Amino acid sequence: MAKTVVKFGGSSLADAQQFKKVAEIIKADGKRRYIVPSAPGKRFGADIKVTDMLYSCYDAVAEGADPQKEFKPIAERFGAIAKDLGLNLSLNEEYETIINNFKNNAGRDYAASRGEYLNGIILAKYLGFPFIDAADGVKFRANGDFDVDLTNASLTSILSKTRYAVIPGFYGAKPNGEIKTFSRGGSDFTGSIIARAVKADLYENWTDVSGFLAADPRIVDNPEVIKVITYRELRELSYMGATVLHEEAIFPVRTAGIPINIKNTNDPLAPGTMIVPNATEEETTTVITGIAGRKNFSVISLEKDEMNNEIGFLRRILTLFEAEGINFEHIPSGIDTLSIVLCTDEINKHPGLLERINEVARPNHIEAERGLAMIAVVGRGMKEKRGTAARMFAALSHAKINIRMIDQGSSELNIIIGIKEEDFEEAIKVIYNVFMLQ
Ligand code: ASP
Repeated sequence: MAKTVVKFGGSSLADAQQFKKVAEIIKADGKRRYIVPSAPGKRFGADIKVTDMLYSCYDAVAEGADPQKEFKPIAERFGAIAKDLGLNLSLNEEYETIINNFKNNAGRDYAASRGEYLNGIILAKYLGFPFIDAADGVKFRANGDFDVDLTNASLTSILSKTRYAVIPGFYGAKPNGEIKTFSRGGSDFTGSIIARAVKADLYENWTDVSGFLAADPRIVDNPEVIKVITYRELRELSYMGATVLHEEAIFPVRTAGIPINIKNTNDPLAPGTMIVPNATEEETTTVITGIAGRKNFSVISLEKDEMNNEIGFLRRILTLFEAEGINFEHIPSGIDTLSIVLCTDEINKHPGLLERINEVARPNHIEAERGLAMIAVVGRGMKEKRGTAARMFAALSHAKINIRMIDQGSSELNIIIGIKEEDFEEAIKVIYNVFMLQ
């Protein structure tokens, strides 16, 4: 029978009202069998996420504050959810254990994980599903690295024995039982590894937006929701700063070829965004799938006569970068010129870098220009369409925006441009208007 793994983010489980929506969603489709909850998130703008409350509580206890008093607001949040759902469930024993473990320095990861743990217990009770502690199935090595293979094997084995389950997101355990969390937002990753382990047909990721937007809504008014996006396109856009999902969450399902559907708990009928291994022609209705970008880049430009004939020129520079652990983004090159685009932070972290490049490469001229922004225009539809770059560059030139760098990958999945930071917002609007509003 088909199975869907369903992950709900913190805002989807912030209070009893939201829990009720979640239960309706799950009950509306019998394929939704494995449920991964986050900890309760914000109920309103100024609210505090339970994960943050747990970190603060643990730190306060470590500094000698009264554990009972510090834990009280957390217990109250869970207590209110259970009570408002009308559940006959006492969590007092759980609270006692947690408080004792806090006193015994169980660690900040342990502390943070209790949000997902307690929320999972409540949700399992409310749904009537078995609760499975993520510590039993999600495995880390003693050195703290995530153990992909052991996790996959143990989750497959545990979950093959149950038709339905609630498994808390965000954490797992080391061989000695010590709790370890993923990085923030890591429940997305838990959902993804569970989807892979149970060979799900679909991984639904429920949040508070109706999908992945084609551009940043702080820059473009009401950007369109992307209906279908491929994993590769998503990677390009996420890398450039567009986020809905935890970055690492894509890899396990991608390996297994399982599609992800981003859905909105507050608008469950909206189709959301489908993230798929490959999109069909019918699903490719636009040239551009999305636009994303980031500021804070710099370009180091080098000029050297006869650079094209000098064997090893680039290698010497890259060897220096490797030795110093410097990450770069792009290296557009001409016959006698070379540009290296990198995050400005990399230049700041390595004072004297230009002098050292000078020493190894002996260019005629070298300079660094800061204050650049990069914009990635991503779309699988570009490949089949002539004139995409022409339309984009014409529109930018019309808007008097000077393009400092162009990079088009050979796969023709994206065009990346470098512009001055002050042109960033305008450039995104211009590109969006050209491709999405016409
Ligand atoms: N609760 C954790 C966080 O706030 C993990 C998650 O929500 O995915 O980061």
